[in-house]
Amino acid sequence: MTRFHPAFVLVLVLITLAATPLSAQQDANRSAVIPWNMQVNPVLVQVVTELLAASPAFAAQCAHIADARFVRITINPVMASSTTSRGSARTAMRRFAAGALLAVVDIPVPLTISEYGELFGHELEHVLEQIDGVDLQAMTDARGGASRLADGAYETARARRAGLLIAEQVERPHAAAARARSAISRGSTAAGVEGAGGTGAPSAAGTQMAQRPTAPGISNAAPAQPAPGMRRR
Ligand SMILES: [Zn+2]
Repeated sequence: MTRFHPAFVLVLVLITLAATPLSAQQDANRSAVIPWNMQVNPVLVQVVTELLAASPAFAAQCAHIADARFVRITINPVMASSTTSRGSARTAMRRFAAGALLAVVDIPVPLTISEYGELFGHELEHVLEQIDGVDLQAMTDARGGASRLADGAYETARARRAGLLIAEQVERPHAAAARARSAISRGSTAAGVEGAGGTGAPSAAGTQMAQRPTAPGISNAAPAQPAPGMRRR
């Protein structure tokens, strides 16, 4: 019985699009999307999209976050130019009596994509520790993978491991993608190249491809050198 005037349907569609701004950030790959409850500053959307495509571990973190309906995360860029902020990321979290968890993650910019991978992976793992209800003080007391820094923040082996793993995953497919692009630009077929890179395992093909120059400009706004003295909390 319900009929929709065409114009009314169009309005509904527009309202739907407007109500889901995060969908604009999402890749065609529906299995790896920016979580609905993670608001990423536009400056870092491309970075997060690349990390999702390159790192299964990062995609798993994001899926875990999306399942935590009581969590809201905001990702902000901070200028990495000053000596005090350069290379340091931090996450401030507030838990409310009703159970909501708000996390604000400050990520220095610009960095190389693998540095982004390490910092995003590290900081989001801290959020996941809270989602999982990890007792950081108990772990610290037991010297079981957590310690308390001078400023009162906790540091954990779990977050360090997550950051390093994601950085590693980001570096490998990027090298493979660069090689594939290089091969395509030569007019040769790239068949098999991505497959070889995707496994992460060294192969005869991979070794051969690695000797070719890679396409420039793969990483976005990467600084000339890695940030020294990265300080993470
Ligand atoms: Zn940390």
